[in-house]
Amino acid sequence: MKQEKKEAALVCFSGGQDSTTCLFWALENFSSVCAVSFVYGQKHRKETEIAARITRRANVPFELLDVSLLGQLSTDSLTHTGIPMDEEQPEGSYPNTFVPGRNMIFLSFAAILARSKGIRHIVTGVSETDFSGYPDCRDTFIRSLNVTLNLAMDYPFEIHTPLMWRDKAQVWALADELGVFDLVRNETLTCYNGVVADGCGHCPACKLRKQGLEKYLQIKNASN
Ligand code: ZN
Repeated sequence: MKQEKKEAALVCFSGGQDSTTCLFWALENFSSVCAVSFVYGQKHRKETEIAARITRRANVPFELLDVSLLGQLSTDSLTHTGIPMDEEQPEGSYPNTFVPGRNMIFLSFAAILARSKGIRHIVTGVSETDFSGYPDCRDTFIRSLNVTLNLAMDYPFEIHTPLMWRDKAQVWALADELGVFDLVRNETLTCYNGVVADGCGHCPACKLRKQGLEKYLQIKNASN
């Protein structure tokens, strides 16, 4: 990675644990970094304010793009207040927190924005290790979209997924290595119910985050 230190990167940023860790990973690995967040009809618009605040602290230029058509077309519980959120994954299906096409749309718009800035590196916090099995978080999808974007825009994009093979405990470990453990713990918003830091405690995103944190702290304390 270090050989790319001379180049710039655009981070797909939501202000959550994963993309915040990616933002600081990018600052270590690229000469300059900018970030983009999306309004897609999410119930918790607070996440865009939090994203803006974290990028100000990191001194990273921030842009907010409106793709709210996505939430109008989708029937998921993140964009529709009337749909109660699945707290468990339904047998043989995705939880209704899955927003079909979201990562494809985000990465496609991020690529258009990156190209306009002469940036070819795009960073995203997706992972197929410790998540709800969303198809657009899988490595195969990212590689496929990378090829498609390069063909679509005749441009050598490289999509980086530093969290792809890390479980949540390893994501906490990375934040700690990068010196931003406290910032990630106290200032990010991962919770599907819009509660900052440790969150509501019972939604699927909070459960994953908490399990990972406890596992990481256990490993860390055992090695000290
Ligand atoms: Zn929560």
